[in-house]
Amino acid sequence: MAVSLKETYELLGCIQCGRCTAGCPVGFRTYLNVRKVVYEGLTETGPRDAKGRPEAWNCTTCSNCTDRCPKGVKPMELLIGLRSAAIEKGKAMPTVRDALESTFKHGNPWGRGRDKRMEWAEDLDVPVADEGEEAPLLYFYGCTPAYETRAQDVAKSLVRVFAAAGVPYKTLGTAESDCGNEIWRLGEQGLFELLVEGNTELFRSHGVETIVTSSPHCMNTFKNEYGDLGIEALHYSQFLKELLDEGKLELPTPVEKTVTYHDPCFLGKHNEIYDEPRDVLNAVPGVTFVEFDRSRERALCCEGGGGRMWVEAVEERGERIAEIRVNDAVALGADYLVTACPFCLLTLEDAVKTSGNEGKIEVVDLSELVAMAL
Ligand code: SF4
Ligand code: SF4
Repeated sequence: MAVSLKETYELLGCIQCGRCTAGCPVGFRTYLNVRKVVYEGLTETGPRDAKGRPEAWNCTTCSNCTDRCPKGVKPMELLIGLRSAAIEKGKAMPTVRDALESTFKHGNPWGRGRDKRMEWAEDLDVPVADEGEEAPLLYFYGCTPAYETRAQDVAKSLVRVFAAAGVPYKTLGTAESDCGNEIWRLGEQGLFELLVEGNTELFRSHGVETIVTSSPHCMNTFKNEYGDLGIEALHYSQFLKELLDEGKLELPTPVEKTVTYHDPCFLGKHNEIYDEPRDVLNAVPGVTFVEFDRSRERALCCEGGGGRMWVEAVEERGERIAEIRVNDAVALGADYLVTACPFCLLTLEDAVKTSGNEGKIEVVDLSELVAMAL
């Protein structure tokens, strides 16, 4: 890198206390040692692994290290910077390269055509704003709920809930593009900026005032990283909470289940949205809510964030965090492990299978739980 890591990421404040490493959820099961990465940046010895620093790709960008650093150093940002350097040098792994290329060409990282983006809505009555048509309340369904079969249930459930509450929303149909949250975290700042520019122009052309997202990742980037967008960005759990408070959403059907709730990092740690999803969950009649010991600020991450959905596993050891999460939920006696993020939904559901818990527990998105209660 032309500018030193030390200057770019203000590493000089580091006192090598190791709080970042102690708080890193993947440190114990991969070879990522955040304190050491900061030290190497500080002493300018450069990346530890000559093959392209695979340990930087193990980071889930959960933000624990940056949040816990007593000296204001930003280790997570340094790791993203190291990824950028790897991409610039053409050292990104093929799966990451493909995701970036697909986003550039098709507006999604899943390698699927733009024309297929609304297939999830085929049998549903989902309003699409025509070019230039006003869409003050926009439902941004997102790439993963558009293309991944299991995650499509999130978008399908939400549009059912919106219809039941008489929400005057619109979608952008196949004109919608990737939000850029994962792209920035994979280290492709140039592509992220292109997405910001394109999406901002598109939103403005439709007079968007409020965006409701399926994913905490999309909400996070619209809210915190789009500069002066001037548009309110809400995760659907916040929006549903508003609808419930205003008496616009009624949930008459009991769901007699014991449920626990997994805080998605980009809803919880990154944006401190802890209460709204719990309030929505508790508004579902019949539900018995049991809280994880490690919840809210202390919640474990599922390992699906930070672009990790497109990173091949590198140098792993031990139990996956999502498996620990599932085992903890089973021990709590939960019928449903509820979350509110398409990536958490996919990683936790996979972990139910790999941890041998099939038949013992189901992973359910909050949107699905609410739709069950209509
Ligand atoms: S927590 Fe901050 S000061 Fe402590 S080792 Fe990590 S980066 Fe350095
Ligand atoms: S952001 Fe999270 S996963 Fe990444 S290094 Fe920091 S603590 Fe570890």
